[in-house]
Amino acid sequence: MTYTRAGQIVAQGGLTLSDVARARADTPGCAKVAHFNNAGASLMPRQVLDASVRHLHLEAETGGYEAAAQASVQIDAVYDSAARLLGCDRDEIALVDNATRAWDMAFYGIRFRPGDRILTSMAEYASNFIAYLQVAERTGARVEVVPDDEHGQLSVDALRAMTDERVRLVSMTHVPTNGGLVNPAVEVGRVAREAGALYLLDACQSVGQLAVDVREIGCDMLSTTGRKYLRGPRGTGLLYVRREVLDRLDPPTLDLHAATWTAADRYEIRPDARRFETWEANYAARLGLGAAIDHALGWGLPRIQARVTRLAAALREQLAEIPGVTVRDRGVRRCGITTFTLDGVPAPDIKAALAARGINVSVSRTASTRLDMDGRGLEELVRASVHYYNTEEEIAALLQAVHDCARSEPAAPSVAGAGAPAGVSRR
Ligand SMILES: *Cc1c(COP(=O)(O)O)cnc(C)c1O
Repeated sequence: MTYTRAGQIVAQGGLTLSDVARARADTPGCAKVAHFNNAGASLMPRQVLDASVRHLHLEAETGGYEAAAQASVQIDAVYDSAARLLGCDRDEIALVDNATRAWDMAFYGIRFRPGDRILTSMAEYASNFIAYLQVAERTGARVEVVPDDEHGQLSVDALRAMTDERVRLVSMTHVPTNGGLVNPAVEVGRVAREAGALYLLDACQSVGQLAVDVREIGCDMLSTTGRKYLRGPRGTGLLYVRREVLDRLDPPTLDLHAATWTAADRYEIRPDARRFETWEANYAARLGLGAAIDHALGWGLPRIQARVTRLAAALREQLAEIPGVTVRDRGVRRCGITTFTLDGVPAPDIKAALAARGINVSVSRTASTRLDMDGRGLEELVRASVHYYNTEEEIAALLQAVHDCARSEPAAPSVAGAGAPAGVSRR
C-alpha cells in the first residue's frame, strides 16, 4: 500500500510547492530528518540560527553588555514583531524564558479571594492545573472544569450556564499538547467578557501554526512559547497583557527592570507589560525569536494555517485506513497536531520504530493532560505534529512506517516481542 494521494491534497495548501521547497532549503534539519515533532520543538530556519549565532559571536568578541548596546535596535524590534504577530501594541508584550513563565506571571498576578471561581477546560496542560490547585489551596478560590461538548471541545453553552459574578477567571488552553483540537477561543472570549471575568488563554500550541489575534479573541492575557510552532530557539516565550488589565494584576515578582527604586522606602512599577520581565535575558535567543516571528509573518499566518491544517487532515484520513489505528483528535476545528493509537503496540515502540527510519514523532502521556486522558480512558498517544515545511513524501514515509508496525502485529497475541521488527515490542 502506498500513499501517493497525499500529493494531490497538499498541493492545494496555503503555500505553493515552490514556497515549501524554499522553506525546506532554508531549514538545515530538513535534510536530516522527517520532523513531525513540531508541537515539541520545530526545526529552526537558517534565519533564526544566524540571528542567534551572530549575536553570540558578537558577545564573545566585544562583551555581552557592549553587544546588547550595538544590537539595541534589533533587540527592541522584537517587541514590534511580537505585537504584529498577535495583533496588539508593543507595550502589551513581555518577553520571557518560556510559555510557562509567561502564563505564571499572569496567573499568579491575579489577586484571588476566597470563593472566587476559576473556570477552566478539560484540555488543560498539567502545569496550569497544578498552579490552579496551589492557588486554590493558598487563597480559597475554587477551580471548576467546564465540560466538553459532544465534539470534544469546551462547551460554550456549559460555560455560559456556569458563569456568575463570582467567576474571577476563565482560563483555557487553545490547542492542547495532546491533540488536534482547537478550542473555541473567540466564543469563550465573548462569554468571559459578558461575565466580567478575566480571560487567560494558553496559546502555546496555536501561535505559529494558526492565525491568532488577541483583539479578535478578546483575551486579557495570552502566553506562548518560541520553540514550538513558531520555530524559534528554546528558552524563549512571550506574554501579552491587555493594557487596561495591567493594573488589575499584581506582578508576582519585581526587580530593577520591572520597577524603579525611587526612594529608600519606595518603588514604582513600570507602566508597560515589561513589568513581567526580569532584567537579565538571553539576547541571542531573543533575537532568534524575533527572526522566527518575522519568518512566520513573511509567509503569512493564514497561509501557514491553511497548509498545516490541510496536511494534518490528509494524514488523519490515511492513518485511519491503517488496520488497528485509531485517530484520537477531537473538536469541530482541528489543527496540525495529529494523534493516534495502534492496537497492541505501545506508543513508545511506534516512536522508536519511526525514529529508526529518521522520522520524529513524540508520545503524549496522561500526566500532561490528565483530565482529558482520564476522561477518554487513554494512557498514551503517538503525536505526529505537522508543520508547513513537511512534505507529502514525508507523510507517505510516516504512513508506511506505521503501516509496517501494524502489519507486524499478529492476529492472535503470541509471546511478548515475538516477531516484532526492530524497536517494536508488545505489552
Ligand atoms: C508546551 C506547552 C506549555 C509549556 O510551554 P513551555 O514553553 O515549555 O513552558 C504550556 N501549554 C501547552 C498547551 C503546551 O503544549
